Amino acid sequence: MANNGWVYDEIDGGSKQEFDHPGEIVLRRAMAVHCLHTTEGTSWPGYKGGASAPHFTIDPIKRQTRQHLPITEGARALRYRGRQTNTMGVAQYEIIGRASQMQDLPQSGIEYIAHVLGVVGKHTEIPAKSSVTFYPVGDAYGTHAKSRLPYAAFAQYRGILGHQHVPDNPHWDPGEFPIDKLVEAMTGETAPVKPTTEPHPTHPAKRPMVKVDGYWGENFTGALEEDFGHTVTGVVSSQSEYWEDDNPGLTSGWDWVRSGVVRGSRVFRKVQIWAGMPEDEQDGVGGPDSFGALQRKLRDLGYYTGPIDGEIWTESPTIKDFQRAHNDGKVK
Ligand SMILES: [Zn+2]
Repeated sequence: MANNGWVYDEIDGGSKQEFDHPGEIVLRRAMAVHCLHTTEGTSWPGYKGGASAPHFTIDPIKRQTRQHLPITEGARALRYRGRQTNTMGVAQYEIIGRASQMQDLPQSGIEYIAHVLGVVGKHTEIPAKSSVTFYPVGDAYGTHAKSRLPYAAFAQYRGILGHQHVPDNPHWDPGEFPIDKLVEAMTGETAPVKPTTEPHPTHPAKRPMVKVDGYWGENFTGALEEDFGHTVTGVVSSQSEYWEDDNPGLTSGWDWVRSGVVRGSRVFRKVQIWAGMPEDEQDGVGGPDSFGALQRKLRDLGYYTGPIDGEIWTESPTIKDFQRAHNDGKVK
């Protein structure tokens, strides 16, 4: 390949930002996939000194692109745990913006992303097509989310997908990305569009709906993080294992640790604030006081009618009502 895998000078607004990186991630198959991520912020990330860098960062609004790695080697924005997916012929792009807002990208931004992928496509065999569905957080967060391809399908896949489709990874970026418009901008082929007589509505960022099942796992935590404007991780970090057995309705993504090293969780602290706990009790750690406060808050909002016992059982009525309150947009 010309330029040893550096193609930024063929990209409008392109520049090189190479991080110090030891070694090279050797590709186990030729480039076959464009993988889209979102930075979940508004500025150029440093990627921990390059340790989690993609090949490109794209600012679709300012129409600027930085290339961090040559496309002759693997990038580093996929998770290393589990099977290695960075090596699987994946060109990786971090789009500056939030996964929850990608459906609102302006057409000019989509066209700019199409331009960048087109340059890479010219130097590789990656086809300008996509056969996956881009889901909102509720269907895309977690390693077992509906959006993920099985590993064998991923290893065969050719075309455009998102981080939410990569196996062994928990992230759900880039959300409901307007993939039809991107493919159309790359190929000139129009996906069938429904006729509309009204001017285009400007639709607000969507709130991910959750299943009302009475279990608080990583999907629901991710939805709460969205409610509170946090980066979605799905994890309630550093909780006291002392309370684990009393609360079997708290499932995946709860990080139980020994009592001596409990530090509490940011998203759980927001829950405590929302539930109206006094400031000196907003420690980010779940327990009977916090769950009791949650029950009272849900009762005051007209959802919960059960006892204030401060416990979270399986198919917990408290969590069902908390999930309903979330779905109704009451949690923020
Ligand atoms: Zn990502």
